[in-house]
Amino acid sequence: METVSQPKRYLVTSALPYANGLKHVGHLAGAYIPADIYTRYLRAQKRDVVFVCGSDEHGTAIPIQAMKEVTTAQAIIDKYHQAMKEDFADLHISFDVYHRTSDPLHHETSREFFTYLHDRGELETKETEQYFDVGSQTFLADRFIKGVCPHCKSVRAFGDQCESCGTALSPDELINPVSTISGQSPVKRKTTHWYLPLARHEEFLRKWILEEHKDDWRASVVGQCKSWIDGGLQSRAVTRDLNWGVQVPLDDAAGKVLYVWFDAPIGYISATKQWALDNNKDWKPYWYDQDTQLVHFIGKDNIVFHCIIFPTMLKLHGNILPANVPANEFLNLEGDKMSTSRNWKLEMRDFIQAFVKKDNGGDQCVDMLRYYLTQIAPESKDSEFTWKGFQDAVNSELVSIFGNYVNRTFVLMHKLCGGKVPRYHSDIADEKDNQLIQDIAAAKARIESLLEQYKFREALFDVIDLSRKGNRYMQEKEPWILAKTVAENPANQQLIDNCLYNCLQLTANLAILINPFLPSTARKMCYMMKVVDKMLDWQNAGSMKLLSMGYSLREPQLLFRKIEDQEIAEQIQLLKSSAMQVAENQPVSPDQPVQPVNDLKPEIVFDDFGKIDLRTGIITAAQKVPKADKLLQLEVDLGFEKRTILSGIAMHFEPEAVVGQHVVVVANLAPRKMRGIDSNGMILMAEDASGKLHFVSAGEASLGGWKVS
Ligand SMILES: [Zn+2]
Repeated sequence: METVSQPKRYLVTSALPYANGLKHVGHLAGAYIPADIYTRYLRAQKRDVVFVCGSDEHGTAIPIQAMKEVTTAQAIIDKYHQAMKEDFADLHISFDVYHRTSDPLHHETSREFFTYLHDRGELETKETEQYFDVGSQTFLADRFIKGVCPHCKSVRAFGDQCESCGTALSPDELINPVSTISGQSPVKRKTTHWYLPLARHEEFLRKWILEEHKDDWRASVVGQCKSWIDGGLQSRAVTRDLNWGVQVPLDDAAGKVLYVWFDAPIGYISATKQWALDNNKDWKPYWYDQDTQLVHFIGKDNIVFHCIIFPTMLKLHGNILPANVPANEFLNLEGDKMSTSRNWKLEMRDFIQAFVKKDNGGDQCVDMLRYYLTQIAPESKDSEFTWKGFQDAVNSELVSIFGNYVNRTFVLMHKLCGGKVPRYHSDIADEKDNQLIQDIAAAKARIESLLEQYKFREALFDVIDLSRKGNRYMQEKEPWILAKTVAENPANQQLIDNCLYNCLQLTANLAILINPFLPSTARKMCYMMKVVDKMLDWQNAGSMKLLSMGYSLREPQLLFRKIEDQEIAEQIQLLKSSAMQVAENQPVSPDQPVQPVNDLKPEIVFDDFGKIDLRTGIITAAQKVPKADKLLQLEVDLGFEKRTILSGIAMHFEPEAVVGQHVVVVANLAPRKMRGIDSNGMILMAEDASGKLHFVSAGEASLGGWKVS
């Protein structure tokens, strides 16, 4: 087997959350809990590790959010920086520093970085024509300009990215661009900007990612990088015309700031500097010494920045490169994508208020959430948070397996061994005893190896599995049965002692192994065992001498409470009603000054329209689609055939109300599978000025007969 020498130090980063709103549990599962588990594990290993994060406070979305909330950009970042910092602390994310990119230290660090690259000729300048909004006298980019996506044709495309297909865009690529400030069509004006010519570094990126890291990085990460590189690396603008951000440190750059994608990852460096200042340490080895292992925890939407762009910047600046970028896929919620605009989300704060800060809540609820989010971690594919799943994970795993094992061990020790750790009689140890000892050692080795490979979900499974083995061992040994025979056969007490001794040592081992995942639980177990937290050092795992003979332990406390049906029913209700409110308010909401007045899709030519085959039909049956609140499954009779069509109208119509409705169907639309059901066609709907949906109907026309020609 290959032996890997251990790095001298580690620098762990979690994606800098954007300070324009509260973050949801999908973010937590993607970039924060895994990083926290990893860091806690490294700390328990006594390795040199620094865990940095902070708020990303630049970019156009900040002033845009300020417009929405009718306040200043500074007020927005202050509000959300503080809120996010508190939420992370409440969920026990143990950053060594939580910094912010509006801090002068960050501005200084970013300007130095830019100057370094600029002075060495690593940037190029270009004069371009950019969209300019005459009304507001501003250049338009990112969220200040919207239009139609050239890739997927969605209207939810902005100057930086398409919200529908996720493709990164530049304003020039948008079809029919519109200013989101004034709603007007913009004009072109000349402006000069600095660019990072990525194409110059293609060879380096190919070798470094596609050869050197093809095996140790996640396949999804390498795959996304490959398609980016193969697609041709474009020069990326490093600066922009905006009055919010880090000023470009050049004389001829008035009114220009660094692009947020450029300064945000430098935030990891300034955060490390801040940590060093606060702790009287040297930050430089963490960014310059090759013996540092840099690991970026992010969501998959951030892969290109952390695997291609930032590493190129780091290489040019003489820094170390990330050793790994364990990017996670997305977490859906109750059958749908999480979305802030549709209010289909579970914010960290929602959970904290509903569980952690409620009576009967507290730290155990933090650990319940950490447990469930790790158990469903979207490590290799998208995964889904459901309240039922949360309840099941807590009740049938944490409570029934892990918690039950620990509780039984303590109760039996008090009942059968006088509340003290019994002696271990190794001369009468049998195969089952030895097997349990081996199981503990094997679990430790496996969990360690999984954690080093960023496989947190599997590692946690192994911890729970070890407690399952403990339950089985106890069940087979039946010390409570043996206890009835001790009066007759006093030697049997030795068998009881051995069983409880092993069970207690396993409990101590479980505390060590669960500690990176569920730190409060581990501490509670230490309290019950009357040991100091030092026992949780990783090197102690595998030992069968963690609790000494004769040592008296506290009475057990339940580690976890059950989650009641009522609690999850309330949460599901809350989610649905808040999403419904948004759906109802959307079209008439007055607080959306940035939306263009008339949201018509771009013009199409007749040939585009001519490709559509419209047929009349009648809905013969309708039902709701399980776990998809917006979809109705419709049976539509077209006269010449019957079709199953899924339509996203469930929020607007009850199934029974649409049966018998005459409709117009796009009959030649490619079939699409949703929720496991093939949808063959599309029902035409039209929206009125108030946003209400109406069926498009040909009245009583004969079925299938009406078509465009
Ligand atoms: Zn798109």
